[in-house]
Amino acid sequence: MEAPSTNKLKQQEFTLASVTDLASSSSSLSSSSVSATFSCVNEVTELRFQEPESADGFSFDLSSAQLFKLGPLQFICVSDSSDSTKENSFSRGVVIKFRDEKESKDFCDSFEEWTKDAVKKGSSLPNGSVSANKSKFDDKIEAASAKMYFHYYGQLLHQQNMLQDYVRTGTYHAAVMENRSDFSGRIVVDVGAGSGILSMFAALAGAKHVYAVEASEMADYARKLIAGNPLLAERITVIKGKIEDIELPEKADVLISEPMGTLLVNERMLETYVIARDRFLSPNGKMFPTVGRIHMAPFSDEFLFVEMANKALFWQQQNYYGVDLTPLYGSAHQGYFSQPVVDAFDPRLLVAPPMFHVIDFTQMKEEQFYEIDVPLKFTASVCTRVHGLACWFDVLFDGSTVQRWFTTAPGAPTTHWYQIRCVLSQPIHVMAGQEITGRLHLVAHSAQSYTINLTLSAKMWGPGANQGGILQTSSCKLDLKEPYYRMSQPQAYPVSQEPLAQPQDIQIQSDDLEEVELLQQNANAQL
Ligand code: SAH
Repeated sequence: MEAPSTNKLKQQEFTLASVTDLASSSSSLSSSSVSATFSCVNEVTELRFQEPESADGFSFDLSSAQLFKLGPLQFICVSDSSDSTKENSFSRGVVIKFRDEKESKDFCDSFEEWTKDAVKKGSSLPNGSVSANKSKFDDKIEAASAKMYFHYYGQLLHQQNMLQDYVRTGTYHAAVMENRSDFSGRIVVDVGAGSGILSMFAALAGAKHVYAVEASEMADYARKLIAGNPLLAERITVIKGKIEDIELPEKADVLISEPMGTLLVNERMLETYVIARDRFLSPNGKMFPTVGRIHMAPFSDEFLFVEMANKALFWQQQNYYGVDLTPLYGSAHQGYFSQPVVDAFDPRLLVAPPMFHVIDFTQMKEEQFYEIDVPLKFTASVCTRVHGLACWFDVLFDGSTVQRWFTTAPGAPTTHWYQIRCVLSQPIHVMAGQEITGRLHLVAHSAQSYTINLTLSAKMWGPGANQGGILQTSSCKLDLKEPYYRMSQPQAYPVSQEPLAQPQDIQIQSDDLEEVELLQQNANAQL
């Protein structure tokens, strides 16, 4: 994960003429070379005054320190008591004298830089008051990203979009109602309640009390909606705030949440879900959903590949109003191929049986979401050109009565997540039976998403396989935060009418393989 804010300042030392404690003028450090050292110790940025060869000295917490100029060589430094919670705690002040103006100026510059860094690290608020509970969320997520994110979810139209995804909302409803015994008489926490819909499902299933926690302005709408359902309202409390920051009066028996993003992990809300588990769930409590799986398979889609490559052709013009655009062609091409494609595709485009990576919400530690590494291994079912990796997810509601899966698989009823495809700018060629290996490496970033690193390789195959290793390799780096929503484009694929019995375990039948080839030929013919 990209570290949100790390201290890049190196320890700095200055030599002073003297330092006198304002509280007791007798206590002063005034030998010929008193040192003042700026450093960061255990996440606390401090300024330490000390005489050389002596253990005597004192430190100032720079998150609350201020410097006042009395004269060209003389300053007062004041800071809050390090323990602001104690009564009778006092501020501390010292008079600092410098030997010359250059030293005094350099010290002032450093003081400004270090105090700024101390505030940025969050050990204090900008107005100087110490923040007792630094938010885990604010610590790792950029403020600008969080602002946009909660602004988005604060709007009814986006909540409506999710409510109108009937596959999603209907599956949640069924999972709760089929497992009434898990809710009846229980304390439930709705993690990221949005409109409050899941809280109301839990109340309908007989929950004793539901805490609906929502960080965005949607919390106010949720209150209004819940109040309009009085039979449920008496058993629901809406709490406006982040899961990471709020407190609850009691432990929960059940957590319910819809924290899934594209590729399951986008938005980084699964981290909030497991933080809620660690903070609020009783030891044997239930989580709805319980487990998630990322499914992956190589795909072949000549049509999509050419469409993406063509986008950058604009920059091939050598005479655009008399201007040569070609210097930016490479960057534009790379830019388009760094966007994961989001759309619903025909499962017949898959060229190998899919594999999956399990994420157990009951076990996963928050930090394990920072970097997710998935080794890939497939066996091609068809001789084709592989254009990249297709991914989707499903989640399991492991209820005591019914286990229900919710899937976003291609071929299954489409959800607002659709599917996602990582397209290689350099496709690889495979024969039926040939092994495709690789790696999907996801690295979380502070804009609530992930950098996707994908490598696919075609291994040597057939009788000569033992003589050689990898024949071709192709890699790409994508930003999950910047997808290419292809939904407005005309769909080149007929939607399969055949229902898939187990959408999460799609197997490619040999009959289908011919269809895949046919589809490819058709696609080629259209170009
Ligand atoms: N549960 C609702 C909304 C799901 S969308 C439904 O199923 O329809 C996810 C919601 O979680 C958004 O409304 C978002 O604002 C909220 N959310 C995301 N991160 C959060 C956090 N850290 N603390 C509290 N709410 C959060």
